[in-house]
Amino acid sequence: MPLTLKLVTGRTIEQGRSMESGGKFSDIYRRAVAVAEMNPKDIEIIGIKDNVKITSVYGSIVVNVKPNNDIPPGTVFIPMGPWANLLTLPITEGTGMPTLKNIDVYVEATSEDATPLDAILRFFGVNKIHYKPAERPLSVGIKRVVYDVPCPFCGEVCDFLTIELDGEKTSRVLNACPIGHAKFMNYYRHRVLTPMIRQESNGDFMEVDLEYALDKAAEILANAKYPLIYGLSSTCVEVTELAVELAEITRGVVDNTTTLCHGPTVLAVQEVGSVRITLGMAMNLADTIVFWGCNPMNAHINHIRRIILPEGRFVKGRKERKIIVIDIRRTDTAKLADIFIQIEPGKDYELFTVLRMALRDYDIEVPSVAGVPREKIYELIEIMRTAKFGVIFFGMGLTQGGAKYKNLEEVIKLVQELNEWSKWALLPMRGHYNVTGSNHAMLWLTGYPYGVDFSRGFPKMIPGVTTTIDLLVNGDVDAALIIASDPVAHFPQKAVENLMRIPKIVVDPFWSLSASVADVLIPSAVTGVECEGTVYRLDDVPLRLKKFVEPPKGVLCDIDILSKLIDRVKKLKGLA
Ligand code: SF4
Repeated sequence: MPLTLKLVTGRTIEQGRSMESGGKFSDIYRRAVAVAEMNPKDIEIIGIKDNVKITSVYGSIVVNVKPNNDIPPGTVFIPMGPWANLLTLPITEGTGMPTLKNIDVYVEATSEDATPLDAILRFFGVNKIHYKPAERPLSVGIKRVVYDVPCPFCGEVCDFLTIELDGEKTSRVLNACPIGHAKFMNYYRHRVLTPMIRQESNGDFMEVDLEYALDKAAEILANAKYPLIYGLSSTCVEVTELAVELAEITRGVVDNTTTLCHGPTVLAVQEVGSVRITLGMAMNLADTIVFWGCNPMNAHINHIRRIILPEGRFVKGRKERKIIVIDIRRTDTAKLADIFIQIEPGKDYELFTVLRMALRDYDIEVPSVAGVPREKIYELIEIMRTAKFGVIFFGMGLTQGGAKYKNLEEVIKLVQELNEWSKWALLPMRGHYNVTGSNHAMLWLTGYPYGVDFSRGFPKMIPGVTTTIDLLVNGDVDAALIIASDPVAHFPQKAVENLMRIPKIVVDPFWSLSASVADVLIPSAVTGVECEGTVYRLDDVPLRLKKFVEPPKGVLCDIDILSKLIDRVKKLKGLA
């Protein structure tokens, strides 16, 4: 019997690791993300034997099913990726953030094969996949060790890695999590090494030299009335600064991936402020740590060994730290917690509100709120009230669900009020390694942290209007420059449909779905391996990424590519 369930999307270790080791066209990536995790009871009720067909108001996919007792009945979990995104909702409700969690989907058994990647791309009008990955040549011979290397993958930016090299080949990575390890070991694989232009005659890629590719890219941007410059979270802040300049001279809009992750957090901070600390303070001071709507065991794996396990100045390691996880499913992080509170999907706002009531000693008149029994709510607020120092780490479970930035306003108010009793702070678990830095650079240059529009000659930001998903869904922009990002793999399908209709310039070191559909594809060097640059860790601490390998011949760092592009656009627009 088919059922209507709630779809939740999110990161997993395998999604991150397979992306770095095999690339997005690989079988291991497909196996990691084209899968629906469901409670065995739901699988039995639906009668799933082979695969499962999942349909939302926007699309339909067939994927493998994986029984998982940690997924509550009534919920289906699909890792972030092209399959999940055929089902997600482009509706941002004026926040810029599409709805990627708690989506009603119709789930039925099927004997159809799982939807292949080329069928997804065909859906977007791509009849032939253009995928020409190369391995960058690696010289070997001189052995050396590089210490204190920051990892350019997630917002944790672990800066204590040791990399052992044989010439340019990584032979060993120490202190990284499995995803960081895969990143450094495989930096030479799935590379774009030659600039390419799509030929109008047959739609195929043609290899060109860099100068020609830059000329073509500049032409597209100079001729566009309202171009979008997007990405920027997986490169350094110096690139964001240049992207802002480019948006200003083209009268376009510049946005980073915040629009799809912690945009609601940024909006809430603008409304009600925040109480922030650094990771070092959390490790040294916090005796109570809450993970709310985030799963660092899968997405920020070293967070556990940095913050939870070590001995801090005032807390003697794990045994003196109380760990609480609040989530809709029993995540891997929940399995190492002292207390796990399972909440109904999309009900975080209600739970924050009732916690604030309980903190003020108001009676809770109903037996449960958000699926959490009243007694447990009283117990939780007592733990929070009496903590010596508490931190709430939160993730996209709060930002991508129904209440979006209202969730964040409410948790910030809870933390502010807890500070009348104890000391509490909160930190967002940012995804990309420099999404925080991209926000900072846009903020100091324009006054706005993302979604910055220059169409009138001065910067403005209107969430839900000048934010990428809205711009694409409404068909507002007429060209796109995508820097170090893969929107085709991560945007809701309605946004991708419209992205496919406009000329696209992609600057990326690696092959991605977006690279495969570019009109102009410009290879770049890997920031944090082949280029240095400044990034901001998730707690706003700036760090300097290292360069310890020369880029491949003829491949430039993002900073140089953007600088050359700006020079050309200025000339075409008569501004040079
Ligand atoms: S936790 Fe993040 S930054 Fe640290 S090693 Fe793993 S992927 Fe890299």
